[in-house]
Amino acid sequence: MEYWLDKWIAGQTERKALKPEVIKAKFENQDGRCMYCGRKLNRANMHADHKKSLKNGGSNTPANIQLLCGYCNRLKGSMNDKPFRRYYELDLASKVPPLRLIPFSYFDKIKASKPKVKRKDPYNGF
Ligand SMILES: [Zn+2]
Repeated sequence: MEYWLDKWIAGQTERKALKPEVIKAKFENQDGRCMYCGRKLNRANMHADHKKSLKNGGSNTPANIQLLCGYCNRLKGSMNDKPFRRYYELDLASKVPPLRLIPFSYFDKIKASKPKVKRKDPYNGF
């Protein structure tokens, strides 16, 4: 077990609902890597993410928790896990982090190439 993990858990003031055992088990299952990009997690970059965001009615149950790096978590925002994976063309069925590290530039490339959703003109045709 990583020496910093207990310190990280202790520092999570607003995440008291997350049990240390849950975080440790997730860390173990994910081989200490981010679920989306496969980056090694450390005390500074690790975020506990709700797959289904709290904003969308997600809960603190262990099944709804995953550990991400700060970059991916910020990118995900309040998106749910599946739409995020679909958007960034990540393996939808994957329950483990990718074996090969996905560089951040990959995400930027997709962000840049996806056309912006055009807002419908409410007065169109009138
Ligand atoms: Zn990541």
